Amino acid sequence: MFTAEGPRDADVMVSDGVITRVEPNLPSSARVIDARGRYVLPGAVDVHVHSRDPGFPEKEDFETLTAAAAAGGVTVVLDMPNTVPAVDSAGALESKAALARSKARVDFGLWGIIRSSSTSGQLESMAAAGAVGFKAYLAYPFSLGRKQVLSHAPADDPDIEPPADYGTLARLAATLARIGLPVAIHAEDPAILAAFRRPLSGYGDLLESRPPEAEAVAISAAGAIARDAGLHLHIAHLSSAPGLQAAEDAIGGGARVTVETCPQYLLLTERDFERTGTAMKVLPPVRTEADRLALLDGLRRGVIGIVSTDHAPHTDEEKALPFEQAPAGSPGVQTLYLSCLQIAKEIGDVWLAPRWVSRAPARLAGLEKSKGAIEPGFDADIVIVDPGGRTRVRAAGMRSRQRHGALEGHVFDFAIKDVLLRGEAAGDRARGRMVRPALVAR
Ligand SMILES: [Zn+2]
Repeated sequence: MFTAEGPRDADVMVSDGVITRVEPNLPSSARVIDARGRYVLPGAVDVHVHSRDPGFPEKEDFETLTAAAAAGGVTVVLDMPNTVPAVDSAGALESKAALARSKARVDFGLWGIIRSSSTSGQLESMAAAGAVGFKAYLAYPFSLGRKQVLSHAPADDPDIEPPADYGTLARLAATLARIGLPVAIHAEDPAILAAFRRPLSGYGDLLESRPPEAEAVAISAAGAIARDAGLHLHIAHLSSAPGLQAAEDAIGGGARVTVETCPQYLLLTERDFERTGTAMKVLPPVRTEADRLALLDGLRRGVIGIVSTDHAPHTDEEKALPFEQAPAGSPGVQTLYLSCLQIAKEIGDVWLAPRWVSRAPARLAGLEKSKGAIEPGFDADIVIVDPGGRTRVRAAGMRSRQRHGALEGHVFDFAIKDVLLRGEAAGDRARGRMVRPALVAR
């Protein structure tokens, strides 16, 4: 069993969905799960998913998202705010919460969006309504029409609002620092992306159009604002060695920065594109072996503390479009835990995996008193893993609406046997609750 102090052998007693005792040789009770020889791990908290709900039910919704999450040992998902309508106010957050409650098979939390037009009052009311944090899409203009976050918006479109940029962050920094919730950024500098824009006839063009310097510059600039204001900056989906260096520099300079990366950046490189095709088209892109090794080293050294998925499904038809037109994104929530167990095993300490996917993410979300550990008083969100199992990622076994993802065909030396959400098998029905950050000193 995973504990913060290291692995130990013990029994876990659960009552009314909460862990009540963790000790060796507890007396038998009404229902017993025999987990001898298995890993008993805290449920994962995936801090970065895109439910597509409301807005794009053909791609995914809260039911399919959370069914996939439950199957993969993810018992909390934090959903990004670029749904339609975007979560840019307390009202939008509350209606999305009501929708999610009716469908969610695991617990969920909701991010709010920072638009260039956002006001301090909007951010404060979203925090009061239970937002887990805020997300700024530095490289994405905001469409006021049907689709709300676009990657290739024509500059002369009158319905386009400019991206939330460093100016927006600086303008709202004092408010964000006072609220104290994490401020996540999609870290790609728009000026660098504009300078490198080109037609995408192949994977090499994609890499050249999104250079790692765009990530590093965005992290440096946002890091300077974060340090000066004392706000908590969270770097989403870190993808490159220069980006990692920029994050380390910001941390070294005194900024409060947390960093997440994703399995696709830890398990794949540009060379996998020939095999995967557009399933691997994600943004920022999967880069070189040198970047992959740098990210593994960042994880090993603890600079990167969190592994999320950036679970971002599209329809199979959309992903089958020619490379340039195919939208970026891949499902991933169902393979998060297995990916991380595999990566941790290869690093040499399998017990790192629950730190990356459960303990540190729960802390980011302000859930460190209820999620992310197997301790008395915590929710009984428990994942039982067979360390002698074997799982091959197959589209047919995926619960997400987009079944064929970037990790198709990968083999993991583990198998998930049981997933409990508050003490009962997760995934069967919609009993997910909304999580809210605890209002403790952060
Ligand atoms: Zn994302």
